[in-house]
Formats: sequence, structure tokens, C-alpha cells
Amino acid sequence: MEEKNKNVRNKLFNVENLTLIAIVLGIISGVYLKDVVIHLKLVGDAFLNLLKMITIPLIFASIFVSIASLSSINDLKNLGLKALAYYFSTTFLAVLTGLLIVNIINFEPISNIGFSGTVEHKPFTLEALLKSFIPSNIFKSLSEGKVLHVIIFSMLFALAVLTLEKTKKELITNFFDGVNDAMLTMAKWIINLSPIGVFALISYIVAEKGLGAIISLWQYVLAVVIGLFIHAFINLPAIGFIIGRFNPYKYFLKVKEAILIAFSTSSSSATLPVSLEVAEKKAGIDKKVAGFVLPLGATVNMDGTALYEAVAVMFVASVYGIDLSLTQQIIIFFTASLAAIGAAGIPSAGLVTMTLVFSAVGIPLEGIALILVVDRFLDMLRTATNVWGDLIGAKLISKYISRD
Ligand code: ASP
Repeated sequence: MEEKNKNVRNKLFNVENLTLIAIVLGIISGVYLKDVVIHLKLVGDAFLNLLKMITIPLIFASIFVSIASLSSINDLKNLGLKALAYYFSTTFLAVLTGLLIVNIINFEPISNIGFSGTVEHKPFTLEALLKSFIPSNIFKSLSEGKVLHVIIFSMLFALAVLTLEKTKKELITNFFDGVNDAMLTMAKWIINLSPIGVFALISYIVAEKGLGAIISLWQYVLAVVIGLFIHAFINLPAIGFIIGRFNPYKYFLKVKEAILIAFSTSSSSATLPVSLEVAEKKAGIDKKVAGFVLPLGATVNMDGTALYEAVAVMFVASVYGIDLSLTQQIIIFFTASLAAIGAAGIPSAGLVTMTLVFSAVGIPLEGIALILVVDRFLDMLRTATNVWGDLIGAKLISKYISRD
């Protein structure tokens, strides 16, 4: 009896449930205990730093191990092409969903809306996007946390190691395999702290930003939320169900800790250690697939961001009274996808790359200031959607690879 009670208690108060409770308590205390929780920034930052601390070594090691343990270049081509096909098709699907929602909702012109804050006008261009792929100094990129650079370097490094003689190849691969496992063990320790970290992060953000702004921009917020909801709970699960032939909702329960952390940190990169841990250890996804699809996805596959970019541009255009034609919506379709691919997995990255979409359809960049007040909250939801998209991709691709 005693044993049974203990089991029930353990099940009820596991880390995932405690994290969920922490989010709810965080929101409540952010509203009602503003003066107290505003001092929790330090705790939230400490938690975030712990995650960030292992992200770069983990990305390096997991991409390396994933490629170095493939048996041939063909295997890499197979895995890479499947991942890219998945990233692109789901990103397009997300933007399409956003555009459809906006066309159905039809924003009413808002006259009493104010601009809040200023945005840095550093236009994000296609040229900048292309340049952002190639590192000139890998140690600088590692120390500055340039995720895409690290991924590209570690891919090339792994390919080079594949050509080495057996003893050398095994030595290096075993080394990084060990690094990978040790990082995941550290991730597990950090996950145990997540109820505290998440409570601090959420309550501070709510206390600092206040929930009031959400009401004044309710139409815009609603459009983004509905769009993200449809994408996360209908589109992506349908892909898992129909193409991957697995139950996406059962899978969601296994990996939900990563989604809660994404929501709380607004950073796909900082969530990566948790995503890798739950995917490999809880959902049993092959290391080769998870180690490749998740780190790459955390920086290039951002369905939530793509959807939000499309809705945001359409909203700001309607506030300015600019009517966007079908051709312009097609331009938005492509530029929003590019802007999402180019966004780094850090808070508010989507807001910066959005200048690409604004410029493409001729909307004043100042317009971004309109949506600034609610951005941090929408960032939580879009990051959670981004990470969920990566996790569905990992499961889907692992099924196909094992079938092959
Ligand atoms: N915060 C998002 C992420 O890390 C990117 C964005 O700002 O949309 O996935």
C-alpha cells in the first residue's frame, strides 16, 4: 500500500507535471506578486545559462556523431534530403496556414493603437542570410554561439573523419560519442531544476511586460494563437499520423518537457539539450537521426516563426491601411519562410528577420514597433511550435530511415 502510494505520488509529481504547474503559478504570481517576482530574474537567467552552457558542445558532438556513425555518404544524403524536405514542406504549410487565417479573420483597422518602443533598423537581407552560413574562424563562432557555423563546421569535420583510417576514425568518434553522452547527462541534471527555472522565467516576464497589451492587440494575438494551434495540433500531427504512421499525441506526452522548456525560454537553441534528451532517452529515437535532425531543425526549421511572420506583416499592413494583393501575399509566403529559416533559435530572433518580409512588400519598418509589446508572449508560443515541429520531424525521419 505504502509502495503504491509512493508510486502514484512519483507519477503525479514528476518533473513534467511540476514544470506545468510552475508555468501556471508563474503566470499567476507575475500578475499578483509583481513586486516580488520581478527580483527572480537572476534565478531565471541562471537556469537559462545552464542550458546555454551545454548547447554548443552538444550541437558539435551530436551532429558529428550522427554523421560519423553513418555507413556511407549515401546515408548522409538520404538523411539530409529527408530532413530538408521535411523542414521546407512544414515551413510552407505553416505560412500557408497563417495566411489563410488572416484572410478569414480580416483585421479591422485600429485607430487608437500606439507605437511602443523603437526597433533597431538593421535590415535583414538575403545576402546576409547566405553569408551567415560560412564561418571564417570556428573558434570565434564557437565562443559566440553561432549555431549555424558550428553545424556547418562539424558536418564537414565529420565528413573528413569518415575518410580517415579506421583507428583514427574510431578514436575521434568514440571521443565525441563520450562528449555527447556526458552532455546529455548534464542535460538531465538541468532538467531536474526546470520547475524552479521555469517559474522564475515566466513570472518575471509576466511581471515585467504585463498582460494588458495582449488585450489591446487581441485580434492580432488571436490570429497568431489560432494559427499556431492549428499547425501544432492539426497539421503536424496529421503529418505524423498519415506519413509517419505513429500516434503523435502519445509521442507528445513523451516529449512534452522539451515543449514546456521551449515555451518558458523562448529559445529553440537553449531547449536543444532537453529536446535531445527526451527524444533519445524517452521516445527512443535513434541517436543518428535525433542528433542530426534536432540541432539542424533548432536553427533552420521554425514553423511557428514562419507562421507568425506572415500574420504580423498582414496585420501591420492592415493598420497602415495597405491592401496586400495576391502577388504580394505570394511574396510574403516565400520571404516569411526565408525569414524563419534565417532566424536564430534565440528570443525575438523572428522580430529581427521580419524586416526582410516588410521590405519585400514595401511596408515601413517602423511598423514593427506596433507589435513589439506582445512579441515576447507570442515568442513563447511560436518557439514551442518550432520545437514541436523539430521533434515530429525527428520521429518521422527515424521511422523512414529504419524502414530503408
Ligand atoms: N524564439 C524563436 C526560437 O528560438 C525564434 C523567433 O524569435 O521566432 O525558436
